[in-house]
Amino acid sequence: TLDQRLKKVVSYIPQGAVLADIGSDHAFVPCYCIQQGLVERAIAGEVNVGPMEAAQGQVALVQLDEQIEVRLGSGLTVLAPGEVTAVTIAGMGGTLIATILEEGKAHLSGEERLILQPNVDAVDVRKWLLEHGYALLSEAIVKENGKIYEILVAEKGEEMIYAEDADIRKWELLFGPQLMREKAPAFIEKWQAEQQKRQFILEQMQRGNDSELLQEKITTIRRLIEKMK
Ligand code: SAM
Repeated sequence: TLDQRLKKVVSYIPQGAVLADIGSDHAFVPCYCIQQGLVERAIAGEVNVGPMEAAQGQVALVQLDEQIEVRLGSGLTVLAPGEVTAVTIAGMGGTLIATILEEGKAHLSGEERLILQPNVDAVDVRKWLLEHGYALLSEAIVKENGKIYEILVAEKGEEMIYAEDADIRKWELLFGPQLMREKAPAFIEKWQAEQQKRQFILEQMQRGNDSELLQEKITTIRRLIEKMK
């Protein structure tokens, strides 16, 4: 079975989809989806040999070699356009997910549903989707083992969830337009922690820049030097 985070990711895969799971590691997502009868066929993409071998091992173990193909390669480049109807990319930073989408966009037909789970920097994923004509269909936030994860679901389309106002949109890209409206407990917890982190950094900076303190030290040292003369 899958953890809560990946179960939430899977919940957005349409019934009967052909799935590509990019950065699949042990291919847990494709195996689970086939076993549940959710998807018919799947591709597990991996850029690293170790995880790719783990995927192959798992697929063989559960005897799903007929339905799941493991491919070695970076991001979406393992796909031919139109080959799949849903793509999951989970468990990496949002910056990496955005890079994978950008570098592999020629390998998408535009018909696929994208289900993306950035561990951090979801803002980068939202920006990429917005700039490339993807409508954000849904957002979710889950807490598991003390960590908080966001899940973004998108398809090509005009539907506009963001505000017209550029200032508001800036915040929506950061917080997630749906998430900031829903204000789920995990969302509030996440941003309280983010705020505290920034507050701490600011205090450290202010401490480092305390010119009065620095002036006092300079004066003390100067006096000491003068006494030594
Ligand atoms: N998707 C699984 C999950 O959510 O539990 C595994 C996440 S694991 C932390 C990230 C995986 O992404 C690693 O196995 C890594 O090799 C793979 N990866 C990183 N960059 C990649 C890329 N450009 N293309 C394909 N896989 C990549």
